[in-house]
Amino acid sequence: MRPEEIVERADALYHDVELDCIKTFREQTGAKAVGYMPIYCPREIVDAAGMLPVGIIGGRGLVEIIRGDAYFQSYICQIPRSTIELALGGKLDVLDGFLFPSTCDVIRNLSGMWKVLFPNKYVRYIDVPQNFDPEVGGRFFRHELGTLREDMERLSGKPISDDDLRLSIKRYNENRRAINDLFALRNKAPWRALAAESYLVIQAGNVLPVDEHTAMIREYIAAVEQADRPMRDNARVAAIGAFCEQPPLGLIKTLEMAGCYIVWDDMSLGKRWITADISTEGDPLTAMADAFIKHSTSTAVLYEPRREKGDALLDIVKRTRAEGVIFAAPSFCDPALLEQPMLTEALDKASIPWTAFKYAENLGQFQVIREQAGTFADSIKLWSPS
Ligand code: SF4
Repeated sequence: MRPEEIVERADALYHDVELDCIKTFREQTGAKAVGYMPIYCPREIVDAAGMLPVGIIGGRGLVEIIRGDAYFQSYICQIPRSTIELALGGKLDVLDGFLFPSTCDVIRNLSGMWKVLFPNKYVRYIDVPQNFDPEVGGRFFRHELGTLREDMERLSGKPISDDDLRLSIKRYNENRRAINDLFALRNKAPWRALAAESYLVIQAGNVLPVDEHTAMIREYIAAVEQADRPMRDNARVAAIGAFCEQPPLGLIKTLEMAGCYIVWDDMSLGKRWITADISTEGDPLTAMADAFIKHSTSTAVLYEPRREKGDALLDIVKRTRAEGVIFAAPSFCDPALLEQPMLTEALDKASIPWTAFKYAENLGQFQVIREQAGTFADSIKLWSPS
C-alpha cells in the first residue's frame, strides 16, 4: 500500500467528529466504549474488560464552540470547552463512560462537571502517584488500578482475569514499540515519515482497537521506507508543550513547510508514556504500577523530585540530534507554560537555540507562525556550529 492511502484513512478517522467509526465498531462487536482525555490512561484495563478505550483530544478546531464557552472562564485553554461542546451536542453519546487522567486542575474540574451533566454515565478521575517509592506511590497506584479494574468489570459485565490483563499489556507493549519505531524512523530519516503524516497515523490509535492500530503503524513504516521521497535541507527541531490540547493539523504542516523537520514531539505523549515494556510476569496490576513509577516519560504534568527540570529535554535534544527546540504550547496551559522558563534556561546554558509561540486548537491563521518558524530554521542553518 502507498503511504498516502494509509494517511488518507488516518485522516478520515481524525476528522470523524461524530465518532461514526465507534458506532460501527459497537454494532459489529457489541462491545462498549470508554472515553479518556489526554494524556496517560491505563488503557490496558479497559481493553482487558473487552471494551474499546477511545481517546478524546478535544474539538481539534473541527467544532464550533457555542455552549462550551458558557461553562468556563475566558482565561483557560480550549480543550475543556470543545470537549463539553462535543458532549452537549451528543457526539460522545456513543461512549459508556469517561476517564479523566490526572493532568491539571482544568481536567479535574471537567471530571466534576461531567458527573453533574451526565449522571447516568460512568466517570472516574484517575489519580497518579506523587511519590515514586514503590512501597508508597507504587502501592497507592496499585490500589487505584485495582479500583479501576473493579469498575471496568462492573461496566462491561465481564470479569477481568490476570491473564486477560497480561494479554492486554502485551498488546499495548507492541503498540508502544511500533510507535517508538516510527519515532526512530522520523529521527533517522525525517523526510520519509513526515511529522503531520506520522501524527495522523499515531492519533488513529484514539479510535482503533490496539492491534489494528499497531498494524497500521507497521504498514505505514514499511510503506514510507519503500517510498521515493526527497530529502530537504531542513533544520531538525524538537517540539515541546503540546501534550494535552492538540495543535491544529495545519500548524504541524506549517512547521514542516517552514523548513523544520520535527524529529521529536510530545503531541502523542499519552500513547508512549511508559517508556519500557510492562512486565507480563507476576501480578499484572503491580507490573503496571511499577512501570508508572519507574518508566514514566518526563513531562510538565509529572511530579519529578529526582531530576532537575531541563535535564530530560537536554537528553531528548542529544538523543534526537535536534538542532533547536520549538516551544509550542496551548494558550493558558499552566503546566506547559510554567515549566518553560526552567527549560529555556537549561537550553541557554547548553547554547541550544529555541523559539516559542502559543496556539489554540481552533487557530486558523498560520502565517505569523510560518514566518517565525522559517526564520528560526534559517538561523539554525546559517549560524549553528554543526
Ligand atoms: S491544555 Fe494544559 S491547562 Fe488545558 S487541560 Fe490540558 S494540561 Fe490542563
